[in-house]
Amino acid sequence: MKSKDLTYHLTDLESKLSNLSFEKLTAEEATNLKKSFNSLKSSLEEKLVGAVTSNASQNYSDVEPEGVEDTKKINSTKTSKGNLNSTGELLVAKVSHEIRTPLNGIIGFTDLLKESNLSVDQEQHVNAIQSASYNLMDIINELLEYSKLSAGLEHFESVNFNFYSLVRDVMYLCNTLIMEKEVRLEVDMDTKIPEMLVGDPSKLSQILLNLIGNAIKFVNKGDIHLKINSIKQNSEEIVLDFNIIDTGIGISEEQIEHIFDTFRQAEHDTFKKYGGSGLGLSIVKQIIENLNGKINVTSTLGVGTTFKFELPFIIGTNVAKENDQQHKANINSRKELVKGMQILVFEDNLLNQKLIETRLKSWGCIVHITDNARYGLNILENNKIDLVFMDLRMPVMDGFEVTRRIRSSKNTYISQIPVIALTADFSIKDKEQCQDNGINDYILKPYSPDELLLKLTSNRAQMEIMSKADTNMANPSEATFDEKSPKIDLKSILEECMGEMDLLEELVSLYKQNALEFIGNVKHHLKLEDFESIQFAAHKMKSGLAMMQTFSLHSIVVQMHKTCMTDRDMKYLEFLYDCFLDEYPVVVHAIELEMEKMK
Ligand code: ADP
Repeated sequence: MKSKDLTYHLTDLESKLSNLSFEKLTAEEATNLKKSFNSLKSSLEEKLVGAVTSNASQNYSDVEPEGVEDTKKINSTKTSKGNLNSTGELLVAKVSHEIRTPLNGIIGFTDLLKESNLSVDQEQHVNAIQSASYNLMDIINELLEYSKLSAGLEHFESVNFNFYSLVRDVMYLCNTLIMEKEVRLEVDMDTKIPEMLVGDPSKLSQILLNLIGNAIKFVNKGDIHLKINSIKQNSEEIVLDFNIIDTGIGISEEQIEHIFDTFRQAEHDTFKKYGGSGLGLSIVKQIIENLNGKINVTSTLGVGTTFKFELPFIIGTNVAKENDQQHKANINSRKELVKGMQILVFEDNLLNQKLIETRLKSWGCIVHITDNARYGLNILENNKIDLVFMDLRMPVMDGFEVTRRIRSSKNTYISQIPVIALTADFSIKDKEQCQDNGINDYILKPYSPDELLLKLTSNRAQMEIMSKADTNMANPSEATFDEKSPKIDLKSILEECMGEMDLLEELVSLYKQNALEFIGNVKHHLKLEDFESIQFAAHKMKSGLAMMQTFSLHSIVVQMHKTCMTDRDMKYLEFLYDCFLDEYPVVVHAIELEMEKMK
């Protein structure tokens, strides 16, 4: 059967699946569905991988997966196996690729289905289908990668990267996999290893994630240790030795010999208990060998397993270091700026509390930390807090709710205080929720000290500009406002940004983004005659307009806000909105001209 035929059948299957009545699907049927997905994997293994040589005369152009052309060019000089000697593997690559398309359809449809009104039973069935589809997708992805590696089609990069950040990111991701287990994950790194190396960072992450991921899977309670040592080093090159040591279930002597073979799992019931395809380790081995390294494993059943691999790297170039000096000077001036700031942090995790407290204190900030909304609001009332960091997920009252309370404070200083969300995962929905609840900015965990400092300084600059502009607003006659051609004084704003054009550009783009959101939101709310939402949008918009000293727009928005609060005259609101629409492009044009002049 040609791959096209197979694709046809799979597409057919997809359409049948989308017509399936989920009401009639029992739990047993859902399990069977899962089984049949898994048996697809087996048949691919038998029928396709088995056919490696039988089709040797096949025309390659017939079976090339998408993107192969490019990859082939990139690898033609690099990969020893790049001679495309395995039609079967190419076929697997093509078929795996084709299977992913209908499978994405299945996943997409189940997503849609989950949004409809389902009974508890139906929801369980849909979840079962989705989980089976994700399993199959993992298998297909591994199969695709394996076949590309085997056929020498995988692309290997050679770029300058920060080795320490990579290890930190991998450890962070792995920690999120541990969830409810009593597993301790530790890392030990030789300090002689330079920060910048040249190699393939994404492949290195993949190897580490796979091996540590396996360790997490096979340790229920105990320790996982990642040790990294330099075993050979000169001024240009370094060979690193990585050890992933776990105290998990271990692997028997008979099984260990075959552990790097394709589709091998140590025991017959491994799939049932732990899932997986048995492809991960063979992919890891192939990647390591492609990168001129080697891997081996030692294990004792019931005691634990150690995967050990060596990889050579070139020592990183100094490009980063040159930028580094500039970067350091920039960071130092920013540190000066935050000295003495009073910061309130809402955070419930003790470790995170300690981390942020240490960082902020090391820059001379005064720090108040709590996970209790009432206590935090009390701190706000009794101290002149400059900025709030807000963990979004807290047990009793979440960060959105606490921010809502801050924003509704009668004390205008408190209600306008900058709030920056701290969050580990940030979806588009979260972003919208942040905007709706008056959260000014966000920072993703795990954040580096520099990221934290950047957020602090840019929000501080905004705050100072705003308070100056507010004083101007109180005395509009003193403000440099000319109705026909708005004068934009970006120089004073640039001074507040410590002369940093980057920061100014950031502010301007934020300003435009807010204005466009305002235009969209108000249009929508006007249709619904939703005065409260217009009032809220106007309230939010005011500070940004004041910050940029765009007084013409500011006075329009102030009028809109007032109208919503008083007579709620729809016609007048629409008129003001039209004025805003007319004025906005003029103001933006003036800002852009001014920016050009300053560059
Ligand atoms: P899978 O996708 O099934 O995890 P792998 O190739 O990554 O495939 O692993 C193959 C098999 O090796 C696993 O199914 C498991 O039986 C065994 N294995 C891998 N790592 C470990 C480990 N750290 N401890 C115990 N067994 C392991």
